[in-house]
Amino acid sequence: MSARLLDGHAVAAAIRDAVDPDVRKFTASAGRPPGLGIVLVGDNPSSEIYVRNKVKAGAETGLWVDLQRLPAGASLDELLALVARLNASDAHDGILVQAPLPEGMGKQAAQRVFDAIDPAKDVDGFHPVNVGRLVQGRPHLVPCTPSGVIVMLEHYGIPIARSRAVVIGRSEIVGKPMAMLLLQRDATVTICHSKTPDLPAVASEADILVAAIGRAGFVTPSFVKPGATVIDVGINRVTDPLTVRDLFDAGSTRLADFERRGAVVVGDVHPKVADIAGSLTPVPGGVGPLTIAVLLRNTVKAAATRIVAV
Ligand code: NDP
Repeated sequence: MSARLLDGHAVAAAIRDAVDPDVRKFTASAGRPPGLGIVLVGDNPSSEIYVRNKVKAGAETGLWVDLQRLPAGASLDELLALVARLNASDAHDGILVQAPLPEGMGKQAAQRVFDAIDPAKDVDGFHPVNVGRLVQGRPHLVPCTPSGVIVMLEHYGIPIARSRAVVIGRSEIVGKPMAMLLLQRDATVTICHSKTPDLPAVASEADILVAAIGRAGFVTPSFVKPGATVIDVGINRVTDPLTVRDLFDAGSTRLADFERRGAVVVGDVHPKVADIAGSLTPVPGGVGPLTIAVLLRNTVKAAATRIVAV
Protein backbone atom coordinates (compact mmCIF):
# COMPACT_ATOMS: atom_id res chain seq x y z
CA MET A 1 0.00 0.00 0.00
CA SER A 2 1.31 3.46 -0.85
CA ALA A 3 -1.67 5.82 -0.62
CA ARG A 4 -1.93 8.22 2.29
CA LEU A 5 -5.09 7.39 4.26
CA LEU A 6 -7.36 10.37 4.95
CA ASP A 7 -8.70 10.03 8.47
CA GLY A 8 -12.38 10.96 8.69
CA HIS A 9 -12.47 10.73 12.49
CA ALA A 10 -9.77 13.39 12.81
CA VAL A 11 -11.54 15.73 10.37
CA ALA A 12 -14.90 15.14 12.04
CA ALA A 13 -13.34 16.02 15.41
CA ALA A 14 -11.98 19.24 13.89
CA ILE A 15 -15.45 20.16 12.56
CA ARG A 16 -17.01 19.49 15.94
CA ASP A 17 -14.31 21.54 17.72
CA ALA A 18 -15.09 24.42 15.39
CA VAL A 19 -18.84 24.08 16.07
CA ASP A 20 -18.44 24.05 19.89
CA PRO A 21 -17.98 27.81 20.45
CA ASP A 22 -20.90 28.54 18.11
CA VAL A 23 -23.15 26.24 20.16
CA ARG A 24 -22.08 28.00 23.36
CA LYS A 25 -22.59 31.44 21.82
CA PHE A 26 -26.04 30.55 20.51
CA THR A 27 -27.11 28.98 23.80
CA ALA A 28 -25.98 32.01 25.78
CA SER A 29 -27.73 34.51 23.52
CA ALA A 30 -30.93 32.55 22.79
CA GLY A 31 -31.33 31.12 26.30
CA ARG A 32 -31.71 27.63 24.83
CA PRO A 33 -29.50 25.26 22.85
CA PRO A 34 -29.88 24.84 19.08
CA GLY A 35 -32.65 22.28 18.52
CA LEU A 36 -32.64 19.42 16.05
CA GLY A 37 -35.78 17.38 15.33
CA ILE A 38 -35.09 13.94 13.93
CA VAL A 39 -37.98 11.93 12.53
CA LEU A 40 -37.64 8.16 12.25
CA VAL A 41 -40.44 6.20 10.62
CA GLY A 42 -40.52 2.44 11.16
CA ASP A 43 -37.70 0.21 12.38
CA ASN A 44 -35.18 -0.16 9.53
CA PRO A 45 -32.09 -1.51 11.38
CA SER A 46 -29.57 0.66 9.48
CA SER A 47 -31.69 3.76 10.07
CA GLU A 48 -31.88 2.90 13.78
CA ILE A 49 -28.06 2.92 13.93
CA TYR A 50 -27.68 6.14 11.91
CA VAL A 51 -30.28 7.91 14.05
CA ARG A 52 -28.80 6.65 17.31
CA ASN A 53 -25.41 8.04 16.24
CA LYS A 54 -26.94 11.39 15.28
CA VAL A 55 -28.79 11.70 18.60
CA LYS A 56 -25.63 10.82 20.54
CA ALA A 57 -23.38 13.21 18.59
CA GLY A 58 -25.94 16.02 18.88
CA ALA A 59 -26.26 15.59 22.63
CA GLU A 60 -22.46 15.47 23.05
CA THR A 61 -22.17 18.73 21.14
CA GLY A 62 -24.69 20.47 23.40
CA LEU A 63 -27.66 20.47 21.01
CA TRP A 64 -31.19 19.65 22.07
CA VAL A 65 -32.09 16.62 19.97
CA ASP A 66 -35.75 15.68 19.78
CA LEU A 67 -36.28 12.20 18.33
CA GLN A 68 -39.81 11.76 16.99
CA ARG A 69 -40.78 8.22 15.99
CA LEU A 70 -43.68 7.08 13.86
CA PRO A 71 -44.66 3.41 13.37
CA ALA A 72 -43.85 1.68 10.07
CA GLY A 73 -47.54 1.72 9.22
CA ALA A 74 -47.89 5.51 9.61
CA SER A 75 -49.43 7.33 6.65
CA LEU A 76 -47.72 9.98 4.58
CA ASP A 77 -50.30 12.48 5.86
CA GLU A 78 -49.33 11.71 9.46
CA LEU A 79 -45.67 12.26 8.59
CA LEU A 80 -46.43 15.53 6.78
CA ALA A 81 -48.47 16.68 9.81
CA LEU A 82 -45.48 15.98 12.07
CA VAL A 83 -43.18 17.92 9.75
CA ALA A 84 -45.66 20.82 9.80
CA ARG A 85 -45.59 20.80 13.63
CA LEU A 86 -41.78 20.87 13.65
CA ASN A 87 -41.78 23.66 11.04
CA ALA A 88 -44.00 25.73 13.33
CA SER A 89 -41.98 25.04 16.50
CA ASP A 90 -39.67 27.74 17.81
CA ALA A 91 -37.48 25.22 19.61
CA HIS A 92 -36.61 23.22 16.49
CA ASP A 93 -33.97 24.92 14.36
CA GLY A 94 -33.24 21.91 12.19
CA ILE A 95 -35.42 19.07 10.92
CA LEU A 96 -34.17 15.79 9.52
CA VAL A 97 -36.40 13.00 8.28
CA GLN A 98 -34.36 9.80 8.11
CA ALA A 99 -34.47 8.05 4.73
CA PRO A 100 -35.47 5.56 3.47
CA LEU A 101 -39.17 5.86 4.30
CA PRO A 102 -41.26 2.66 4.45
CA GLU A 103 -42.19 1.49 0.94
CA GLY A 104 -45.87 1.58 1.89
CA MET A 105 -45.73 5.39 1.88
CA GLY A 106 -45.29 5.39 -1.88
CA LYS A 107 -42.53 6.23 -4.35
CA GLN A 108 -42.84 10.01 -4.12
CA ALA A 109 -43.05 10.09 -0.32
CA ALA A 110 -39.45 11.12 0.39
CA GLN A 111 -39.57 13.94 -2.15
CA ARG A 112 -42.91 15.20 -0.79
CA VAL A 113 -41.55 15.17 2.75
CA PHE A 114 -38.30 16.94 1.83
CA ASP A 115 -40.34 19.53 -0.08
CA ALA A 116 -42.48 20.11 3.02
CA ILE A 117 -39.59 20.92 5.38
CA ASP A 118 -39.09 24.65 5.97
CA PRO A 119 -35.97 25.48 3.86
CA ALA A 120 -34.62 27.48 6.82
CA LYS A 121 -34.65 24.27 8.93
CA ASP A 122 -33.61 21.88 6.16
CA VAL A 123 -30.33 20.67 7.69
CA ASP A 124 -30.02 17.87 5.11
CA GLY A 125 -30.08 20.45 2.30
CA PHE A 126 -32.56 18.46 0.19
CA HIS A 127 -35.28 21.12 -0.21
CA PRO A 128 -35.49 22.56 -3.75
CA VAL A 129 -34.76 26.05 -2.38
CA ASN A 130 -31.49 24.88 -0.86
CA VAL A 131 -30.63 22.80 -3.95
CA GLY A 132 -31.32 25.84 -6.14
CA ARG A 133 -29.18 28.07 -3.95
CA LEU A 134 -26.33 25.59 -4.20
CA VAL A 135 -26.61 25.41 -7.99
CA GLN A 136 -26.66 29.19 -8.21
CA GLY A 137 -23.47 29.44 -6.18
CA ARG A 138 -25.05 30.97 -3.07
CA PRO A 139 -25.32 27.92 -0.83
CA HIS A 140 -26.93 28.03 2.61
CA LEU A 141 -27.70 24.54 3.93
CA VAL A 142 -25.78 22.00 1.82
CA PRO A 143 -26.08 18.18 1.93
CA CYS A 144 -23.89 16.82 4.70
CA THR A 145 -21.87 14.08 2.98
CA PRO A 146 -20.53 16.11 0.03
CA SER A 147 -19.88 19.09 2.34
CA GLY A 148 -17.86 16.77 4.54
CA VAL A 149 -15.81 15.64 1.54
CA ILE A 150 -14.88 19.25 0.79
CA VAL A 151 -13.81 19.80 4.41
CA MET A 152 -11.73 16.61 4.16
CA LEU A 153 -9.96 17.79 0.98
CA GLU A 154 -9.28 21.21 2.50
CA HIS A 155 -8.12 19.72 5.80
CA TYR A 156 -5.47 17.65 4.00
CA GLY A 157 -4.45 20.52 1.70
CA ILE A 158 -5.52 18.72 -1.46
CA PRO A 159 -5.88 21.37 -4.18
CA ILE A 160 -9.34 21.58 -5.74
CA ALA A 161 -8.99 24.65 -7.95
CA ARG A 162 -7.68 23.77 -11.42
CA SER A 163 -7.96 20.04 -10.68
CA ARG A 164 -9.79 17.54 -12.88
CA ALA A 165 -12.52 16.00 -10.70
CA VAL A 166 -14.67 13.02 -11.63
CA VAL A 167 -17.72 12.11 -9.56
CA ILE A 168 -19.18 8.65 -10.16
CA GLY A 169 -22.85 8.78 -9.13
CA ARG A 170 -25.51 11.42 -9.77
CA SER A 171 -27.83 11.06 -6.77
CA GLU A 172 -29.49 14.12 -5.29
CA ILE A 173 -27.90 13.51 -1.89
CA VAL A 174 -24.29 12.83 -2.88
CA GLY A 175 -23.28 12.87 -6.57
CA LYS A 176 -24.94 16.06 -7.83
CA PRO A 177 -24.21 18.31 -4.81
CA MET A 178 -20.65 16.91 -4.70
CA ALA A 179 -20.12 17.96 -8.32
CA MET A 180 -21.55 21.43 -7.62
CA LEU A 181 -19.29 21.99 -4.61
CA LEU A 182 -16.21 20.96 -6.59
CA LEU A 183 -17.25 23.16 -9.53
CA GLN A 184 -17.70 26.16 -7.23
CA ARG A 185 -14.14 25.65 -6.06
CA ASP A 186 -12.91 25.82 -9.65
CA ALA A 187 -12.40 22.14 -10.36
CA THR A 188 -13.22 20.95 -13.87
CA VAL A 189 -15.89 18.40 -13.09
CA THR A 190 -17.26 15.37 -14.91
CA ILE A 191 -20.27 13.48 -13.53
CA CYS A 192 -20.51 9.79 -14.44
CA HIS A 193 -23.35 7.33 -13.99
CA SER A 194 -24.52 3.90 -15.04
CA LYS A 195 -24.82 4.92 -18.73
CA THR A 196 -21.37 6.48 -19.01
CA PRO A 197 -19.36 4.72 -21.76
CA ASP A 198 -15.82 3.65 -20.95
CA LEU A 199 -16.01 4.68 -17.32
CA PRO A 200 -12.45 3.61 -16.36
CA ALA A 201 -11.00 5.86 -19.08
CA VAL A 202 -13.04 8.86 -17.92
CA ALA A 203 -12.32 8.21 -14.24
CA SER A 204 -8.61 7.81 -14.81
CA GLU A 205 -8.35 11.43 -15.96
CA ALA A 206 -9.24 12.58 -12.46
CA ASP A 207 -6.94 14.26 -9.97
CA ILE A 208 -9.83 13.90 -7.52
CA LEU A 209 -12.05 10.85 -8.00
CA VAL A 210 -15.22 10.57 -5.89
CA ALA A 211 -17.04 7.24 -5.88
CA ALA A 212 -20.69 7.40 -4.72
CA ILE A 213 -22.18 4.35 -6.38
CA GLY A 214 -23.26 1.76 -3.83
CA ARG A 215 -21.33 -1.19 -5.37
CA ALA A 216 -18.66 -2.90 -3.32
CA GLY A 217 -15.14 -2.57 -4.73
CA PHE A 218 -16.42 -1.28 -8.10
CA VAL A 219 -13.58 1.21 -8.61
CA THR A 220 -10.50 -0.86 -9.41
CA PRO A 221 -6.95 0.37 -10.10
CA SER A 222 -7.74 0.73 -13.83
CA PHE A 223 -10.06 3.66 -12.89
CA VAL A 224 -7.32 5.57 -11.11
CA LYS A 225 -4.57 7.89 -12.31
CA PRO A 226 -1.37 7.21 -10.33
CA GLY A 227 -1.18 9.65 -7.43
CA ALA A 228 -4.84 10.72 -7.63
CA THR A 229 -6.93 11.48 -4.55
CA VAL A 230 -9.71 8.90 -4.26
CA ILE A 231 -12.73 9.63 -2.06
CA ASP A 232 -14.82 6.56 -1.29
CA VAL A 233 -18.34 7.52 -0.24
CA GLY A 234 -19.78 4.02 -0.60
CA ILE A 235 -21.02 2.02 2.38
CA ASN A 236 -21.79 -1.55 1.37
CA ARG A 237 -22.47 -4.45 3.70
CA VAL A 238 -21.16 -7.58 2.01
CA THR A 239 -22.06 -11.10 3.07
CA ASP A 240 -21.00 -13.04 -0.06
CA PRO A 241 -17.69 -14.87 0.63
CA LEU A 242 -16.61 -14.76 -3.04
CA THR A 243 -16.96 -10.99 -3.18
CA VAL A 244 -15.08 -10.60 0.07
CA ARG A 245 -12.24 -12.88 -1.12
CA ASP A 246 -11.93 -10.81 -4.28
CA LEU A 247 -11.53 -7.69 -2.17
CA PHE A 248 -9.16 -8.81 0.58
CA ASP A 249 -5.98 -10.90 0.48
CA ALA A 250 -5.76 -14.17 2.37
CA GLY A 251 -4.51 -13.48 5.88
CA SER A 252 -5.73 -9.86 5.94
CA THR A 253 -7.44 -8.59 9.08
CA ARG A 254 -10.54 -7.61 7.10
CA LEU A 255 -10.93 -11.16 5.81
CA ALA A 256 -10.50 -12.47 9.35
CA ASP A 257 -13.21 -10.01 10.50
CA PHE A 258 -15.51 -11.32 7.81
CA GLU A 259 -14.90 -14.92 8.78
CA ARG A 260 -15.73 -14.09 12.40
CA ARG A 261 -18.85 -11.99 11.75
CA GLY A 262 -20.21 -13.24 8.42
CA ALA A 263 -20.39 -9.69 7.03
CA VAL A 264 -18.08 -6.80 6.33
CA VAL A 265 -18.64 -3.14 5.44
CA VAL A 266 -16.71 -2.01 2.38
CA GLY A 267 -16.65 1.01 0.12
CA ASP A 268 -17.11 1.43 -3.62
CA VAL A 269 -13.35 1.44 -4.09
CA HIS A 270 -11.37 -1.78 -4.35
CA PRO A 271 -8.64 -2.03 -1.67
CA LYS A 272 -6.00 -2.55 -4.39
CA VAL A 273 -6.52 1.10 -5.36
CA ALA A 274 -4.34 1.92 -2.34
CA ASP A 275 -1.36 0.72 -4.40
CA ILE A 276 -1.85 3.41 -7.02
CA ALA A 277 -3.74 6.36 -5.43
CA GLY A 278 -1.89 9.23 -3.79
CA SER A 279 -4.52 9.65 -1.06
CA LEU A 280 -7.52 7.52 -0.19
CA THR A 281 -10.39 7.59 2.30
CA PRO A 282 -10.81 4.26 4.11
CA VAL A 283 -14.17 2.56 4.66
CA PRO A 284 -15.04 2.57 7.47
CA GLY A 285 -13.45 5.66 9.00
CA GLY A 286 -13.26 7.96 5.97
CA VAL A 287 -16.25 9.92 4.71
CA GLY A 288 -18.75 8.28 7.11
CA PRO A 289 -17.81 10.22 10.28
CA LEU A 290 -17.97 13.53 8.39
CA THR A 291 -21.66 13.30 7.57
CA ILE A 292 -22.78 13.59 11.19
CA ALA A 293 -20.26 16.32 12.00
CA VAL A 294 -21.59 18.45 9.14
CA LEU A 295 -25.16 17.75 10.24
CA LEU A 296 -24.31 19.32 13.61
CA ARG A 297 -22.65 22.25 11.86
CA ASN A 298 -25.71 22.75 9.63
CA THR A 299 -28.01 22.70 12.66
CA VAL A 300 -26.02 25.41 14.42
CA LYS A 301 -25.93 27.43 11.20
CA ALA A 302 -29.71 27.08 10.77
CA ALA A 303 -30.23 28.12 14.41
CA ALA A 304 -28.01 31.18 14.15
CA THR A 305 -29.60 32.27 10.86
CA ARG A 306 -33.13 31.86 12.22
CA ILE A 307 -32.38 33.94 15.30
CA VAL A 308 -30.94 36.72 13.17
CA ALA A 309 -33.95 36.52 10.86
CA VAL A 310 -36.53 36.69 13.69
P1 NDP B 1 -27.86 6.05 -5.31
O1 NDP B 1 -28.24 4.63 -5.48
O2 NDP B 1 -28.92 7.07 -5.12
O3 NDP B 1 -26.99 6.50 -6.58
C1 NDP B 1 -25.99 5.67 -7.09
C2 NDP B 1 -25.39 6.29 -8.32
O4 NDP B 1 -24.39 5.39 -8.80
C3 NDP B 1 -26.41 6.51 -9.45
O5 NDP B 1 -26.24 7.78 -10.01
C4 NDP B 1 -26.07 5.41 -10.43
O6 NDP B 1 -26.24 5.77 -11.80
C5 NDP B 1 -24.59 5.20 -10.20
N1 NDP B 1 -24.23 3.85 -10.59
C6 NDP B 1 -24.79 2.68 -10.21
N2 NDP B 1 -24.21 1.65 -10.85
C7 NDP B 1 -23.27 2.19 -11.65
C8 NDP B 1 -22.36 1.64 -12.58
N3 NDP B 1 -22.31 0.33 -12.80
N4 NDP B 1 -21.55 2.48 -13.23
C9 NDP B 1 -21.60 3.80 -13.02
N5 NDP B 1 -22.45 4.38 -12.16
C10 NDP B 1 -23.29 3.58 -11.49
O7 NDP B 1 -26.80 6.05 -4.13
P2 NDP B 1 -26.35 7.25 -3.13
O8 NDP B 1 -25.74 8.36 -3.90
O9 NDP B 1 -27.42 7.54 -2.16
O10 NDP B 1 -25.20 6.49 -2.31
C11 NDP B 1 -24.05 5.99 -2.94
C12 NDP B 1 -23.24 5.22 -1.93
O11 NDP B 1 -22.83 6.12 -0.90
C13 NDP B 1 -23.99 4.11 -1.21
O12 NDP B 1 -23.10 3.05 -0.93
C14 NDP B 1 -24.43 4.75 0.09
O13 NDP B 1 -24.61 3.81 1.13
C15 NDP B 1 -23.26 5.64 0.36
N6 NDP B 1 -23.56 6.79 1.21
C16 NDP B 1 -22.68 7.06 2.19
C17 NDP B 1 -22.87 8.15 3.01
C18 NDP B 1 -21.85 8.43 4.06
O14 NDP B 1 -22.14 9.07 5.04
N7 NDP B 1 -20.60 7.98 3.88
C19 NDP B 1 -24.04 9.02 2.89
C20 NDP B 1 -24.87 8.70 1.75
C21 NDP B 1 -24.64 7.61 0.95
P3 NDP B 1 -27.70 6.03 -12.46
O15 NDP B 1 -28.11 7.37 -11.97
O16 NDP B 1 -27.42 5.99 -13.91
O17 NDP B 1 -28.58 4.93 -11.95
